[in-house]
Amino acid sequence: MNLCSPKEIKELMQAFGIRPSRALGQNFLIDSRVVVRTAELCCEGRSESILEIGPGVGCLTERLPGRYKNVVAIEIDSRLIPVLRFTLGNRSNIKIINADVLKCNLREITAPYLDGGLSVCANLPYYITTPILMLLLESGIPFDYITVMVQAEVAARLCASPGSQEYGAITASLAYFGHAERLFSVPAHAFWPAPKVDSAVVRIRLYKDKPLLALDEKILSRVIKSAFGQRRKTLVNALSAGFPELPKAALAEIVGKIGHTADIRGERLGIAEFVAIADEISRAARP
Ligand code: SAM
Repeated sequence: MNLCSPKEIKELMQAFGIRPSRALGQNFLIDSRVVVRTAELCCEGRSESILEIGPGVGCLTERLPGRYKNVVAIEIDSRLIPVLRFTLGNRSNIKIINADVLKCNLREITAPYLDGGLSVCANLPYYITTPILMLLLESGIPFDYITVMVQAEVAARLCASPGSQEYGAITASLAYFGHAERLFSVPAHAFWPAPKVDSAVVRIRLYKDKPLLALDEKILSRVIKSAFGQRRKTLVNALSAGFPELPKAALAEIVGKIGHTADIRGERLGIAEFVAIADEISRAARP
């Protein structure tokens, strides 16, 4: 069957007595060119295995096994599991797991697929794009690439430069783990049901050896969150709110040490400066 045909998806869902769930971000891809390009470009042919998050009815999933040795797909909606069994058949190289990606043991699930390289390829549910991305980045799992279809506005944030309007906590955090590249746009009418906004595919190449290493990654994450949590405040005031245990004067001194005046705002800083601040805080916090 044609899994990119809205008519056939509707008939399929009717046969299984289900409707797309808006709450779970179920907007299914119906443009086969977008599906093929995403499957082709997701890891530049570097990985043998692919982790898909949210296979839906399987339109992207079914294009992966021809190109990759193994596919493991995690789908939260138990109603879709029998649908996927029907659309994908019993292929030995596709494993479907019924779980919430945010709650499952991702390390255990991905462990058998690491030899030969593993990348992520997913049309992400829009309501939890950032938590899923942060989970994947911070998981420590050595993915080659994380390729995701996200709302156009999120794609702009992932690929933004320091100081730009789109630059945010997710941009800075991502820059610590890898390099993001916007591959192509996907119009809203490439989905059924059509969402309100356009999307884009972003490919993140993860560093095998990180160019910057923070002394304490948890402190780095707190620094970035504080700096962007209080966007209108100066960096010193924002850090002071995020690190109430440290005197404001000490934080001002740290910001001065990395070469900035007290009125600098966090959104102007690149990842190297966030790491420098986090390392100073880690040293200051040591007993
Ligand atoms: N891959 C399919 C496609 O491109 O047509 C469906 C993509 S749809 C945008 C997002 C999918 O993610 C849905 O199938 C939804 O049920 C699933 N999903 C939503 N939240 C999830 C979660 N926390 N864990 C795993 N899957 C989730």
